[in-house]
Amino acid sequence: MLTARRLFLLAVPAFAIAPRAFAADAYAASPWRKLTPSDWKTRLPPKSFSVLREEDTEAPFSSPLNNEHRRGTFACLGCGLPLFKSDWKFNSGTGWPSFYTAIPGAVGTKADFKLVLEERTEYHCARCLGHQGHIFHDGPKPTGLRYCNNGVALKFIPA
Ligand SMILES: [Zn+2]
Repeated sequence: MLTARRLFLLAVPAFAIAPRAFAADAYAASPWRKLTPSDWKTRLPPKSFSVLREEDTEAPFSSPLNNEHRRGTFACLGCGLPLFKSDWKFNSGTGWPSFYTAIPGAVGTKADFKLVLEERTEYHCARCLGHQGHIFHDGPKPTGLRYCNNGVALKFIPA
């Protein structure tokens, strides 16, 4: 009985995530998806590799992008896909670049079970699947969302 229950619980996230991931995967055939971990290692700075490819989290208040207030676009450092516009950036006080929304179709999400006591959703670049950060529900209007992004996973392109 316990075993069956455990199997059921393990199976739920897979069923919940898979249909969404396959339905909207516009970049499934992208060449960026074919890069191996060692390919990425040669392309990215070590800290960016840890975040983008291994879901590490940078130290808070460590990113120069916290203080980036010019108009422009924040793109994935891995593949250059534009993810956020500067208009959507806000000072969350958390020490990570924060946005209240993302460019439609630019990020994918998956449930994150690493921190059991904290509800959060992992998100990543929709094209290269590089990990960007987590979505929390304590953001400002109009969405109430906070995209908490690792600065080392982004590059800023001034308008
Ligand atoms: Zn990317």
